[in-house]
Amino acid sequence: MPPTIHPDDLERLRATAQAVFATLNDHFGTPEFTGGDDPVDELIATILSANTNDTNSGRAFDQLKAAFGDDWDAVREAPLAAIIDAIRPAGMYNQKAPAIVATLERIKADRGSYDLSHLAAMPADEALAYLTSLPGVGHKTASIVILFCFNGAAFPVDTHIQRISQRLGISGRRASPEKIKQIWESLLPPETFYPLHINLIRHGRQICQALTPQCERCPLQADCDYFNQAGEWSTGDERKNG
Ligand code: SF4
Repeated sequence: MPPTIHPDDLERLRATAQAVFATLNDHFGTPEFTGGDDPVDELIATILSANTNDTNSGRAFDQLKAAFGDDWDAVREAPLAAIIDAIRPAGMYNQKAPAIVATLERIKADRGSYDLSHLAAMPADEALAYLTSLPGVGHKTASIVILFCFNGAAFPVDTHIQRISQRLGISGRRASPEKIKQIWESLLPPETFYPLHINLIRHGRQICQALTPQCERCPLQADCDYFNQAGEWSTGDERKNG
């Protein structure tokens, strides 16, 4: 369901979104989608990435692959202790191991295999509905799979994109990731989603950091509420006030 944006705000927000997209492309370059990740790999990797950093979740994923190869049946049928052992670097392994097994069980039951390539031909909202019906798969994970596996029309919102969207004024200061996802999806065409997603995360890591945004060297100053209404914000405001 698209968010309701007042018509007066729609044009202004769309112009801001287009300016942000273009400016980040100028600043960081335009990332090109070079090919789809495997959807089941992406699902498992995203389950492992909850509440940890990329290094730890990547190590857990690599260890899972080292232990079981590409044999998802072997993971599904393995003792939980063996999966936990492999994914331990990701933390929360007592929750993540059964979530991985439950997800694999559902996919196997639905498809008879671990091939989700049929999702590429579905409208994004149908693919999203299927993926979010899997155990433990939320909107963010489903959107990541649709974008990174199929270059589909979904805009995942992580903590960087949530923070930057709130500061820019693309969303309200209390907006949830799901609401922000809907706003971006209603403002820009799907072909912008992959490069914009990548560049907003780069921007969040390198310039618009959570505690110390480097506004003095930011190319988005002209389009940023946080910068242009400095007196109304304090650092961390987006977390207190949304
Ligand atoms: S001007 Fe500051 S708050 Fe706004 S996007 Fe740039 S770094 Fe972030």
